Amino acid sequence: MAANVAEGKVKEYDYIVIGGGSGGSATARRASGWYGKKTLLVENGKSGGTCVNVGCIPKKMTWNFASVAESLRDSVHYGFETPANIPFSFPAFKKRRDEKIVSLNRAYDRNWSREGIELLRGTASFVTPKEMDIELVDGSGKLRVKSDHICLTTGGYPIVPKEIEGAWFGITSDGFFDIEELPSKIAVVGAGYIAVEIAGMLNAMGVEVHMFIRGETFLRSFDPMVQTIMTERYEAAGVKIHKGYKGFEKVERVSDGKGDEKVLKLFLKDSETMLVNELLWAVGRKPETESLKLENSGVKLGDKGYIAVDKFQNTNVDGIYALGDVTGQMELTPVAIAAGRHLSNRLFGPPHLKNSFLPYENVPTVVFAHPEIGTIGLTEPQAISKYGKENIKIYQSKVSATFYWFFPPEEDKKNPTEFKIICEGPEEKIVGLHLLGLGVGEMLQGFAVAVKMGARKRDFDACVAIHPTSAEEIVTMK
Ligand code: FAD
Ligand code: NDP
Repeated sequence: MAANVAEGKVKEYDYIVIGGGSGGSATARRASGWYGKKTLLVENGKSGGTCVNVGCIPKKMTWNFASVAESLRDSVHYGFETPANIPFSFPAFKKRRDEKIVSLNRAYDRNWSREGIELLRGTASFVTPKEMDIELVDGSGKLRVKSDHICLTTGGYPIVPKEIEGAWFGITSDGFFDIEELPSKIAVVGAGYIAVEIAGMLNAMGVEVHMFIRGETFLRSFDPMVQTIMTERYEAAGVKIHKGYKGFEKVERVSDGKGDEKVLKLFLKDSETMLVNELLWAVGRKPETESLKLENSGVKLGDKGYIAVDKFQNTNVDGIYALGDVTGQMELTPVAIAAGRHLSNRLFGPPHLKNSFLPYENVPTVVFAHPEIGTIGLTEPQAISKYGKENIKIYQSKVSATFYWFFPPEEDKKNPTEFKIICEGPEEKIVGLHLLGLGVGEMLQGFAVAVKMGARKRDFDACVAIHPTSAEEIVTMK
C-alpha cells in the first residue's frame, strides 16, 4: 500500500489495532483469524512488544541462567566436586537469548500474516475519532486509515526520574537486556516486580547488588508475609538493601565504560557517596499515550495518565477501546491477551459472547525472584478490610523442600517454602493464596484454577496429597 495522505485517500478496515504487543496481537488475531474481520495492526517497534523483546521472555531466560548458576553452586551439597567460581560467558548467553527473541519476532509476523492481518510498520496518531495517520517507520510517508472500531494497546515505558541530576547515566529494564558484560557492582533503585527480579538474578550471577528502597520492605503491594520474608531472604543471600531511600542528590559519570568498566558516582545523602559500575532505575512505568495524539479523538485519561476504560475496555469515546499496560489494569501479559480476546469476542463474535469481558479478580501472578513468589487473590489486610477481621481465617505454614535437606543447617533454615491461605466466612472460601519458595511459580497455576472456581478450604483438604512434594502442604494445612 503506497503512502496515501498526500493523495487524500483513506483506507477503511473493520478493526484497527495500535500496538503489536501481547494485547494488540491477541485482539487482532481473534478478530481476523477467528471472525474473518478485515484487520489492520500498526506497530512502530519490534513484533511482540514488551513481553517478547524487553520483558517476560528475556527476563525468564536470564532467570533460568541465574538459576543454573545457583544450582552449580548448590551441587557441592550433593557431593559434586564443583569448583568455586566456575567460569561462564554472559556474552555467549546473551547472543543465544537475542537469537531466540528474533525467532519469536518472526513467529509473531508469521502468525499475523497466516491469519490475514494487515501489518503496518509505523506510528499511529488520531486525526479524528475514526481516522488515524500512520507515519511509516521506513520514512516513506503517511497513510490515512479509518475504522468504526479502534483498539489502543500501546503499552508503556520505564520511568527515569527527571528530578535527579545525572539520572540519565543509569539504565532501565530496557537497557538491562542490552548488557553485554555483567557489571561488578550495581545499584538497583525501586521495590517492585522489576527491581526484585533483576536484583535477584544479578546477585545469583555473582554481581554485588545494592538495592535502594523507600520503605522497610520491598513488594509493598503483596501480602505482608511475602514482603517481610522476601526482604530477609535477599539480605541473607547477600543483597545489600538500603532502606528509607529518598532520592540521590545527583549522579556523576566517572568513566563511560569505553575501555575500562563504566563507573558512576552516586551522591546518597549527607555527603555520602558510592561508586558503582551500573545504576538501574526500576521505579515504575508510564503508559505510552503521547504518540497517539488523543486530543484529536476526545479519549480521556484517568488520574495517573492511563487511558480510562470500563469493564468492557470501552474508552469514553464510542468505537475506541483500550487494553493492556496502557490502561494500567494489572500489567501482565496474560491479562492483556485475555482482555484482547474478550474484546474481539464481544465486538465480532457470536451473540452469546456479546457481553464478554475479562474480570480482573483472582488473577494469579508470579514474581521470578530468588526464590519465586506466587500469589492470587487478596492479601491479609485487603481481606480484613473487605470482610472484617472476625470473618477471616488464616492458615500459615512452612516446610523445608527436600532439595535443601543436604544443605548445612544454617542455610536450610533460610530456605523453607512458605504458605498462606486466607479464608472467608463459615464456608472458609479461599480468597487469597500466597506462596514463596522453590518451584512455587509452577505450583500456583493449578491451585489458581481451584481458587477461581470458588474452592473452599475443605475442597483443598479433600484432594489427596502428592508425596513427597512441597505443594502437598497446601492440601494438608491445619
Ligand atoms: P506492549 O507489549 O508494551 O505493546 C505495546 C506496543 O505498542 C509496543 O510494541 C510499541 O512499540 C507499540 N506502540 C506504542 N505506541 C505506538 C503507536 N503510537 N503506534 C504504533 N505502535 C505503537 N508480565 C508477565 O505476565 N510475566 C512476566 O514475567 C513479566 N515480566 C516482565 C518483565 C519486565 C522487565 C517488564 C518490563 C514487563 C514484564 N511483564 C511481565 C509485563 C508484560 O510485559 C506487559 O504487561 C505486557 O507486555 C503488556 O502488553 P501490551 O500489549 O499492553 O503492551
Ligand atoms: P511496580 O509498580 O511493580 O514497582 C515500582 C516500585 O518502585 C513501586 O512499587 C515503588 O515501591 C517504587 N518506586 C516508585 N517510585 C519510586 C521512586 N521515586 N523512588 C524509589 N522507588 C520508587 O513497577 P515495575 O516497574 O517494577 O513493574 C511494572 C509492572 O510490570 C508490574 O507492576 C507488573 O505488573 C509488571 N511486571 C510483571 C512481572 C511478572 O509478572 N513477573 C515482572 C516485571 C514486571 P515503594 O512504594 O515500596 O517505594
